[in-house]
Amino acid sequence: MSPAPVLVVGAGPVGLTAACQLARLGVAVRVVEELAEPTTESRAVGVHARSLEMLASLGVLPRLEARGRRIGALAMVDGASGRTRARMDLTGIAVATRHPYVLDVAQPDTEAVLAERAAELGIVVERGVALTGLHQDADGVDVTLRTGEGDQTARVAWVVGADGGHSTVRHLVGTRLEGGFHGQHFAMADLDADSPFPRDTISMFTHPDGMGIFFPLPGSRARIMFLVDAPGPDAGDPTLEQIQALADVRMGGQITVRNPRWMTYFEVHHAQVAQYRHGRVVLAGDAAHVHSPAAAQGMNTGIQDAANLAWKLALVVGGRADEGLIDSYDGERHPVGAAVVRNTTVLTDVGTGSGVQAAVRDAMLFLAGHLAALRDQGARQLSEVAVNYRDSALSVDRGGHHHGTVRAGEHAPDPAGVTPAIEDLLARPGFLVLASTATAGPLEEVLGDLGAVIRVVGEGAGEGRVVDPEGAIARTYGIGTDGFALVRPDGYLALVSDSADPAILRDYLVDVLGITEPARV
Ligand SMILES: Cc1cc2nc3c(=O)[nH]c(=O)nc-3n(C[C@H](O)[C@H](O)[C@H](O)COP(=O)(O)OP(=O)(O)OC[C@H]3O[C@@H](n4cnc5c(N)ncnc54)[C@H](O)[C@@H]3O)c2cc1C
Repeated sequence: MSPAPVLVVGAGPVGLTAACQLARLGVAVRVVEELAEPTTESRAVGVHARSLEMLASLGVLPRLEARGRRIGALAMVDGASGRTRARMDLTGIAVATRHPYVLDVAQPDTEAVLAERAAELGIVVERGVALTGLHQDADGVDVTLRTGEGDQTARVAWVVGADGGHSTVRHLVGTRLEGGFHGQHFAMADLDADSPFPRDTISMFTHPDGMGIFFPLPGSRARIMFLVDAPGPDAGDPTLEQIQALADVRMGGQITVRNPRWMTYFEVHHAQVAQYRHGRVVLAGDAAHVHSPAAAQGMNTGIQDAANLAWKLALVVGGRADEGLIDSYDGERHPVGAAVVRNTTVLTDVGTGSGVQAAVRDAMLFLAGHLAALRDQGARQLSEVAVNYRDSALSVDRGGHHHGTVRAGEHAPDPAGVTPAIEDLLARPGFLVLASTATAGPLEEVLGDLGAVIRVVGEGAGEGRVVDPEGAIARTYGIGTDGFALVRPDGYLALVSDSADPAILRDYLVDVLGITEPARV
């Protein structure tokens, strides 16, 4: 058997997502993980709609849902009084996604489900194996791996550095995190909590001493965290009494904590690497960006890094596209990471402010809670369905289809009433073309084995068809009866055309993606 062309370093949520996506696209992957056993630390607990869609396409969502709790709203609560200042329900994003909620689930569960899927896809995570060295040339990367039996060397075509905030890969390619090293400290605990606050709501408590966040998990389990002063070198972990005292002061005196599973202090920085691609080595997830846990964007952003990268890498490794395509990974994901670093910093500061700053914040929260448009905009941002690559060279609008509600580069909406869901159609590996029955054939000829052309019909379910009785696809995608939409494997609109001319699809594949072996054109 020939060696795997891609080495994924790190079996956290980002490395596992990258590995699963690559394997699904037919790429042989090797995954190494320094830890001999999976972590039990429930770090990231909020999985947002955009990640849920990606996990649905991977076929793992029902398993993850079984381990988590659906959260339908976020509330901003005045920590001193316990009064809810604003509540943002997430129902407004139902026009774009099948998941108008956050799934609260402990990170070890997310990792376990992804590891199970990886095993089904034939991936053996090599545990207790750490990457310690790499050297690259124009054709590949030589890596050194430390194993229980001593050092090993291997040569691979590409390395994905998904090895977390203290990334060795990042260090070895000679780059570092840059940014405002705020050095904010959090006390956090995974425990059982008796609370009067709704258990289908993530509550963020504003307080001049520092914000607090309450994430309900299944049963009476919860993850709570507080922004605190630096704990000092000999502080050890926080005690249950300290967590209770923080909750008493900053969560309205209404929460009782017990039965701790994990309590720790951790420090966050707000920083990002200058670029994600270093030749044949690409960084993803915490290896590329670190920031405050406010709004639970970290793991979600990393999962989307992995999804963005995987299909591009699969085309390149498979010899179908030029390696220049990988530059678009940096071009598309770096600005998203930068925005996340910026916004989570602001959110953490805002949750902590006092005086005039707190008054302005509370007025804004009042408005956000009462104006549907503002609330829905907030929900779109939080759920990450608002993330888009409109400015990317890979996003092309052709013709006057702009009467649709989305443009190329945006998240491909998944309107209710369409069967199967777009996310289920994306469970097929590769691209998706949505077209009318009359125009599908020639597009199929052009797309070849790069994906599937799905016929949009009003009735009559069947293989290769999507039933859309209300015309929601034609309307939201703006393709009418004569156009087509090309959806990327990561669920973004690549090309929207108001004409079904197959040359438009061919030109896109060849000229924009740089497909070097045009698909049966
Ligand atoms: C204490 C704490 C609390 C957090 N709380 C939240 C939260 O509430 N919400 C939120 O969204 N995010 C939170 N985060 C961040 C979240 O956990 C990360 O964003 C997420 O884990 C990123 O996933 P990743 O796969 O990029 O990195 P990681 O999950 O860190 O995974 C990297 C993996 O690489 C392995 N590795 C490292 N070096 C090597 C090497 N040289 N060779 C092989 N393997 C290696 C590591 O062992 C690890 O398993 C928290 C993080 C911490 C530390």
